[in-house]
Amino acid sequence: MPNRRHKVRSYCWTSVSTLEKIRWAPRVSQAKMWQLYQSDARGIVDDELIDEVGFALYTRAQSILLVANGDVCCPRCHNILHIGWEQAETPDAVISCPTAGCSWQTTYRDWRKSLHRQHLFGRNADPALKAYIDQYQRAKRPQDRMILIDQLIHAFHERLKDREALKSVGGNLIEGKGPQVVAFLDRLAYGDGGTPGLIETRDAWRERLEADQTQRVST
Ligand SMILES: [Zn+2]
Repeated sequence: MPNRRHKVRSYCWTSVSTLEKIRWAPRVSQAKMWQLYQSDARGIVDDELIDEVGFALYTRAQSILLVANGDVCCPRCHNILHIGWEQAETPDAVISCPTAGCSWQTTYRDWRKSLHRQHLFGRNADPALKAYIDQYQRAKRPQDRMILIDQLIHAFHERLKDREALKSVGGNLIEGKGPQVVAFLDRLAYGDGGTPGLIETRDAWRERLEADQTQRVST
């Protein structure tokens, strides 16, 4: 079995591709997310499942941040290469990877084309994604990683509920259309036997959402 924890340590993720094409991490599967919350609510600490979902979120968050910054993971040397949104004015200018010994090249046009149907649209990255990436790498216990997953899901859920805020999220984390993802996240299970802290995070988050809504109605 591949060692996922090892892969997480590398900042730049790309799936193996002999074609050296630009690749982006897919959105996270609802089925896996559902399974994770069901097992947590039953008090099961499924290390492998936590890592599977946690790593999928990690790579997806990374792709969103890369796009927001106008960057890409070099598919040859796996270092970060800057493309720049401003390059839209010269879409066919060749951009070479600056890493010593790596001569991989691309253009703004190819980079932009690689984003087609990837649901990676934003130029403003959500700070919650950066926080998740920084902390996930350091989280040692599966329970700590579960809490980080849950916090990210709540931050994301909050943006999805607010259409204006959604525009600044920078891309979708979970597969599905906006309203359907909100409904899915609303149904995620929480049980008394689950990871300590999860129910508290959910309750604090719900209170904040309700307070925001009350404020919006009264202003
Ligand atoms: Zn390179």
